[in-house]
Parts: sequence; C-alpha cells; structure tokens
Amino acid sequence: MPESQTDVLVVGAGPVGLMLAGELRLGGARVIVAERLPAPTTESRASTLHARTMEIVDQRGLMPELGEVARDGTGHFGGIPLPLGGQPSRYAGLWKVPQTRMEEILGAWATGLGADVRRGWELTGIDEDAEAVTAVLHHRDGSQTRLRARYVVGCDGEKSTLRGLAGFEFVGTAAGRELIRADVAGIDVPDRRFQRLPRGLAIAARRPDGVTRLMVHEFGRPAVSRSAEPDFDEVAGTWARVTGEDISRGTPVWINSFGDASRQVTQYRRGRVLLAGDAAHEQMPVGGQALNLGLQDAANLGWKLAATIRGWAPPGLLDSYHAERHLVGSQVLSDIAAQAALLLGGPEVEAIRSVMSGLLGLEAVRDRLGAGISGVGIRYPVDAADHPLLGARLPHVELVTEAGASTTGALLRSGRGLLLDLAPESSGHAGLRTVAQDWADRVCVVAAEPRPGDTAVSARAVLVRPDGHVVWADGGEQRLRDALARWFGLPRPTRR
Ligand SMILES: Cc1cc2nc3c(=O)[nH]c(=O)nc-3n(C[C@H](O)[C@H](O)[C@H](O)COP(=O)(O)OP(=O)(O)OC[C@H]3O[C@@H](n4cnc5c(N)ncnc54)[C@H](O)[C@@H]3O)c2cc1C
Repeated sequence: MPESQTDVLVVGAGPVGLMLAGELRLGGARVIVAERLPAPTTESRASTLHARTMEIVDQRGLMPELGEVARDGTGHFGGIPLPLGGQPSRYAGLWKVPQTRMEEILGAWATGLGADVRRGWELTGIDEDAEAVTAVLHHRDGSQTRLRARYVVGCDGEKSTLRGLAGFEFVGTAAGRELIRADVAGIDVPDRRFQRLPRGLAIAARRPDGVTRLMVHEFGRPAVSRSAEPDFDEVAGTWARVTGEDISRGTPVWINSFGDASRQVTQYRRGRVLLAGDAAHEQMPVGGQALNLGLQDAANLGWKLAATIRGWAPPGLLDSYHAERHLVGSQVLSDIAAQAALLLGGPEVEAIRSVMSGLLGLEAVRDRLGAGISGVGIRYPVDAADHPLLGARLPHVELVTEAGASTTGALLRSGRGLLLDLAPESSGHAGLRTVAQDWADRVCVVAAEPRPGDTAVSARAVLVRPDGHVVWADGGEQRLRDALARWFGLPRPTRR
C-alpha cells in the first residue's frame, strides 16, 4: 500500500475542514484534506452567518469573495423574535450565505494557500504511535493508501468516523422530537415565520424562484429512527394535519428531517487526534448556530495546531483548544436545547413561552442571548482578566497606521499575532513595542491611531492572538512579556 506524509490530515472537506485547512496553511503547517465525496455537496443546508463568523471572514480577507449579502436584523430564540442588529459588531445581524457558497469560498482560499484537498478518499482506519498517526484511506475506485500525519483532525461531521475510531466519548441526549423540512415547488401557502397552531408548529417561506421552504412539527410526535429521509406523502400528511392545507400536488425538490439531539465529546483532543465542528458536537440546527460554532472551532484550533507543528507553541497551547471550545460549545448546546423545548413543545410550554417573551422585553436579556447567538460575547478565560477586553475578541476599529488607513480586521490577515499600540506617543509605549520585537517572527507590531470618534476599543495597547482574541491590554512591560510567552512561546531576541 503506498504511503505519504504530512503535518496534519484533516478528515472532511465540509466548511469546518476547509476553514481549518486554510488556518493551518496560514500558520505554516503542511495539510492534506481527505474527503469521501468526489465533488462538493449541492445540498441546501445552513444559510446563516452570525456576526462573529463574519468578523473572522473579514480577518481572513474574504469579504470581497462573499460579495453582496442580504442581512437580517432580527433572529429568534425558540421562535420568539430576538433583535440581533444591535449587537456590538460591525457585522451585527444575520447574513444570508448559502453553505454551498461558503464552502466554495473556503475551498478556494485553502487551496490557494497550498492545502492539498483530495476528494473521493474515505478514512477507514487509524493507528497512532508516539510520533504520528497512520491513517488508512480508501478511494472510490477501490484503491487504498496509508498517510502518516503528525496530527489528524476529524471535521467529518455529525456521524464522524474518526470520533469512533479514536475512542472519543460522545455524551448527551438522543433526539426526542424532530422537524421535517421540505423545499416544494408548485404550492401556494401563506408565509409563516414560526406559527404555533393547536396541533403543531408550521414555518413557510416562499423563495424568489417560486419554491417554498416548509418546516413542520406535530406536537407530541416523537422523533422517528430513520434510515432515509421522509417521503413527500409523510411531509404532505403532517402539513395537512398541522395546518389543514393540502400540498399533496406540489413537487418536492429536497426533503430532510432533523431532531433535537444534543451531544458533545467530553474531550476535543485525544493524543494526536482532535475533533472540530459537527464531529465534536451535535445539535439541532436552529438559528444557524451549528455551522457558526464549527467555523469558530476551526479559527481557534488552526493557529494553535500550526504553532505546535512549527515548534513554537508554549506548553498547554494546544490543550487550550479543548478548554476554550468545549466551554463555548456546551453553552451553545444548552441554549439550543432551551430553544428546542420552546419551539417543539406543545401547549404545555405556552406559559414558559409567555414568560420568555416578557423577559425578551428586557435589554439585558436580549443582550445576553444575542451575545451567545452572534458569538460576539465569547470571552475565553485568560490569566488575570482584569480588563474588559481580556479574552474577548478585538472589535472592528478603523485605524490610521504609518502605512495608511487600515482596520483591526485587516491587521490580522497574515494569521500572526498582533501588538497594537493605539497610543504610540504615550510614555512607556516605545518600551512595549521593543519588548514585542523579541517575538517579531510570530507577532506583528503596529502603531496606529483610531479614526476620530471610533471608541470601540477601550485600551491604549492590546496583544491579540491570530484568531482575534485579546490576551493582554494596558498592562506594563513585564505583564506583556508574560502574555507573549504564555501565548507565543519563547522569545527569540534579535540583535538591536
Ligand atoms: C441535511 C442537513 C441540513 C442542515 N441544515 C442546517 C440549517 O438549516 N442550519 C444550520 O445551521 N445548520 C444546518 N445543518 C448543519 C450544518 O450543515 C453543519 O453544522 C455543518 O455542515 C457542519 O460542518 P462540518 O464541516 O463540521 O461537517 P459537514 O458539513 O457534515 O462535513 C463533513 C464532511 O466530512 C466528510 N466525511 C465524513 N466521513 C468521512 C470519512 N470517513 N472520510 C472522509 N470524509 C468524510 C463528509 O462527506 C463531509 O463532506 C444541516 C446539516 C445537514 C446534514
């Protein structure tokens, strides 16, 4: 059997695998992506990007590729309207980007950076030793190959093969209820956002191409164990029982069902095997959070794994991936479970829905739920978090640098860390910049002034990780040196 080698094998060329491949290449790791499908899927799946994901897209310079994107200011929590347009982000709101388009963009970006995406190859086995993992891959044509990689990351979706092969513990609850979804042509039913009727929940939205997307759940009906998607008779029958409308003469374009299963692996890393995206967490795809959570996993993991491969990762850096993303994942899964209960519960949840609607009238409640859904509220635990920016993501700021106009997003495009000095004339700031010079191969040092009136960053100097999270703000030289060592490894003093 032929054998080849790489630094990282990513299993699965879905959105998370492709995002991770690009991040790894930015960090200087060699990466092969093995994908079972011979060509990208054309299935209609997720369609919403939230503010934090859009900030990451901007950080990687991919906004021009997205082009004109429709933005909606109102999301929902369990079907109860929730404004998201006021979140503190340049990209507040819900951005309508079909998952297929996102995969196309990420695929072109990752391969443009040198990722080797191999389609038609399915992972079927692994063997881990002290130095590497040997993966067995089967091609659709019957051939097989072995690939030795220092690390393997499973981005192979909800039914992850790698998760099983590597013995990850995947805990939580199986689906108790399900929503049936269908894109149907040739029907004429009223649009409904989340209409609760006596017998169930009905959602309908007619697209410009005349096809109507329906979602329906019959109250009290348990999830069905399925080996195939529901047929159109089942869709039309359920729709008729819930709404009283006959859609049986329509033409189904796509049918799918999804349940409210909620599971997460207990560890995101086992030795040289890691998981990201749906492989690490299974959740009801409500409010577009599944895709966003996965893309943010990839942004968190990519630079840490690349640093490990390149040899500069400080102790504990790679394990901070689990610590940070498991925590965020469990919070999001918990919020989604609450939404599933509100959305799919029958008359017995009306009282709690009414309480929840009242609470959503309070700004603090809207801010807390909106911060979770949009992702802008994520604050990773960092040492001595005594500044409001520590652990949070660096907000978008318009800047004037020595090289001209820029933005915080643009300064992160290289995939390196950033010491951003926003008050270069202040006493002691030249010293801060000098300290960071000892990490110049991993951290860019930029002196800049915010555009007049731009007050999004409440600090005079910040140290930012490649994924955009702040790990030092306004401390002195010694604390900066400690933060640089904690996140970027040993200094490499240059002769000055
Ligand atoms: C039918 C459907 C509808 C959805 N609708 C929505 C929605 O409306 N809103 C929402 O937010 N989310 C939705 N989701 C969820 C969303 O699509 C996922 O959260 C997202 O795709 C996760 O990305 P991923 O890269 O982690 O996994 P995936 O997109 O599942 O990608 C995994 C990839 O791994 C490949 N693979 C699997 N096993 C192997 C193997 N052994 N070897 C090699 N390759 C392998 C697969 O072929 C696939 O390309 C939907 C998902 C599905 C399946």
